[in-house]
Amino acid sequence: MATPSRSSVIIVGAGISGIAAAKILVENGVEDIVILEATDRIGGRMRKEAFGGVTVELGANWIMGVGGKVPNPVWELAAKSSLRTCLSDYSNVRYNIYGRSGKMFPSELAADSYTKAVDSALEKLRNQQGTDGGRRDFSRATEPPSSPKTPLEQAIDFVLHDIEMREVLPIPTFLDYGEQEYLVADERGYEELVHKLARDFLSIASEGEILDSRLQLNKVVRKIQHSRSGVTITTEDGSVYDANYAILSVSIGVLQSDLISFQPSMPRWKMEAIGKVGVTVYTKIYLKFPYKFWPCGPEKEFFIYAHERRGYYAFWQHMENAHPGSNILVVTLTNEESNRVENQPDEETLKEAMEILRDMFGPNIPNATDILVSRWWNDRFQRCSYSNYPITSNHQVVQSIKAPVGHIFFTGEHTSEKFSGYVHGGYLAGIDTSKALLEEMWKEKEGKAVRLTQVIRRLS
Ligand SMILES: Cc1cc2nc3c(=O)[nH]c(=O)nc-3n(C[C@H](O)[C@H](O)[C@H](O)COP(=O)(O)OP(=O)(O)OC[C@H]3O[C@@H](n4cnc5c(N)ncnc54)[C@H](O)[C@@H]3O)c2cc1C
Repeated sequence: MATPSRSSVIIVGAGISGIAAAKILVENGVEDIVILEATDRIGGRMRKEAFGGVTVELGANWIMGVGGKVPNPVWELAAKSSLRTCLSDYSNVRYNIYGRSGKMFPSELAADSYTKAVDSALEKLRNQQGTDGGRRDFSRATEPPSSPKTPLEQAIDFVLHDIEMREVLPIPTFLDYGEQEYLVADERGYEELVHKLARDFLSIASEGEILDSRLQLNKVVRKIQHSRSGVTITTEDGSVYDANYAILSVSIGVLQSDLISFQPSMPRWKMEAIGKVGVTVYTKIYLKFPYKFWPCGPEKEFFIYAHERRGYYAFWQHMENAHPGSNILVVTLTNEESNRVENQPDEETLKEAMEILRDMFGPNIPNATDILVSRWWNDRFQRCSYSNYPITSNHQVVQSIKAPVGHIFFTGEHTSEKFSGYVHGGYLAGIDTSKALLEEMWKEKEGKAVRLTQVIRRLS
């Protein structure tokens, strides 16, 4: 196979960070780039899917952090694309808790359990900091002394710890950008933001489709050879690409897997840092019904189910605010439960979910007519939903994760010190990494010019 000509920079991965990084390079005159993306699409973890007559999101769904003094850059991108969004109504979520009897828990009881769960969540975070450096290990359950025991306490603890408080307080996203969260409910999907960024610098055909040889889809990077003079990248189909530099935007889950090999190997400090980062798996299960049987209206968008098994079909949302008349519910699972459900047939999952719904809403509710289950853990191009640096957010670990190794630069949500795990984290990381690379390229150019002047002086 013919080797393509050498480019200045190869960007591995076409999620929001890779595309943002590529855009900055092109806008700064580095036009001979190549983007290698393993799948047949751009957007990465921003991924829409048609389901039950509407467009739903398998990955990122919310623009988190809106309404503060500083505008969230992703909110600004959404405004430019006139993305349809819907303010999420979390009010009362902590009290919309159903037990196995189908009855809601009295709000005073929920309030007590909530206080207890906050203490426990904080204690758990502190424990993690002290023991395992925050790395999420599915096989080892750490149980603080005052860990929640009753189904109600477990459910609140799950929502707090696995859904809401996955960062140290105060959460930089909400502190900087505001506390509102907007659900993207646009038929073009959240990924439209990535497409728009890409269309800004890549050639497009008349129907708006990207047709630019610099974007190469279905190219799974398997090997990166690097030296002082540049990088040589080999993909699964045997194609070989040479460049002066590479920007690697694959997820932390991929970096922790053996999908990509490096020659020479990554230095020890880099591997150790990569190994220290925890990952969260976040699974969405969409269920379509012939009609609604759940309460709607203000303060009813989210509800919780309290099962004795922590996180078992605990966190529910109806889609009536985002997609009125769609008759869709979504339930979120995380980590161990995600893993379990990813590895079983969807019919089994549907059966489990229906049992829970019948516990909550009675035996006469209709069966779901369709189900959609996301599988981020089993996706070899992801191996996680997002990085998880609980309080250990030890400055040094993130710095080591994002530090370049020779001519390889690193980006992606997991390289963002303040906003890891978020779309805006990925977007800002892409911009930052490219700026750092441009600086390096300019320095190298300056160095070459100085060396050339010295040679000319010596010769004259
Ligand atoms: C279920 C879920 C829910 C989420 N919810 C939210 C939310 O509501 N709000 C929010 O702000 N954030 C949310 N996030 C996080 C957000 O989606 C990510 O932080 C962000 O999209 C990451 O962008 P990225 O560019 O860093 O990585 P990615 O989007 O993962 O891009 C990396 C790209 O690299 C490609 N790739 C991987 N391996 C290779 C290889 N070997 N060769 C070539 N290409 C490769 C991948 O296919 C992918 O396209 C959620 C994520 C998930 C999964």
